[in-house]
Amino acid sequence: MMKILISVLLLGISSACASYPASNKWAMVTQPVKAGEAQSIGAYTAGCLRGAVSLPPNGTGYQLMRLSRGRFYGHPDLIRFIERLGQTADTQRLGSLLIGDLGQPRGGPTLSGHRSHQTGLDVDIWYLFSPEAAIRNLRTDERETWSSPSVLAGKSDEINHGQWSLSQEIILEAAARMPEVERIFVNPSVKRLLCMRKTAHDWLRKIRPWWGHDDHFHVRLKCPANSNHCLGQEPLPESDGCDNSLTWWFSAEAKTPAKKQPVQTPVLPVLCDDVLKE
Ligand SMILES: [Zn+2]
Repeated sequence: MMKILISVLLLGISSACASYPASNKWAMVTQPVKAGEAQSIGAYTAGCLRGAVSLPPNGTGYQLMRLSRGRFYGHPDLIRFIERLGQTADTQRLGSLLIGDLGQPRGGPTLSGHRSHQTGLDVDIWYLFSPEAAIRNLRTDERETWSSPSVLAGKSDEINHGQWSLSQEIILEAAARMPEVERIFVNPSVKRLLCMRKTAHDWLRKIRPWWGHDDHFHVRLKCPANSNHCLGQEPLPESDGCDNSLTWWFSAEAKTPAKKQPVQTPVLPVLCDDVLKE
């Protein structure tokens, strides 16, 4: 099991906080590269994005939060995905999805907050359907100050049912069923809940337990069809993940914090040099 742990740590797909040197040029760029077809280049944790589009701050069934962060750019596939999921939330009357970070205008590493989200194919979505947000557009200041509540009871592994509803289960299933979705990271307790509720389904394979992710879920799309330099991830395991591999997440080993490693600036593909310069 330790081997699995080490390999996932090396993959660096944790969304745990990471700070890259302040000289990170990717975070300073304010505009996407518009010329040519959209291309996700490199890996989710070491890559960039050409032809990004921005998610409009309001759409049917969703609202974008934390506008000041400027991390609302993605591959057009990601924007379409969010819009479609918003439609689902709207037609099923679940409330408004509150959308957190996508990526930067040209992707790349951020100054803080994420290791992934570099190729315009990752998005964080809050576990919160606010009745208020469903009937009105939130003000800019509300989008900065509202917080995304944890769905866990205190520091335990139990779901706080005051913060959880069937709506979250419906939206997670709807997202996982979309063919363009590669995987969705959730807190292990959320995965456990879904395993208890559902009979084995192929979509459940895509729901992956990960540290944190108790106040949002993280959707990752597959490499888009025409992104020839996009690096995908290792394939999902065959099982639905409701087995011993899930039990491990509640073990002392899983909860022991890994030794802090200095955060290394990821090495991006050479093609990204051009994306930054253009
Ligand atoms: Zn994320």
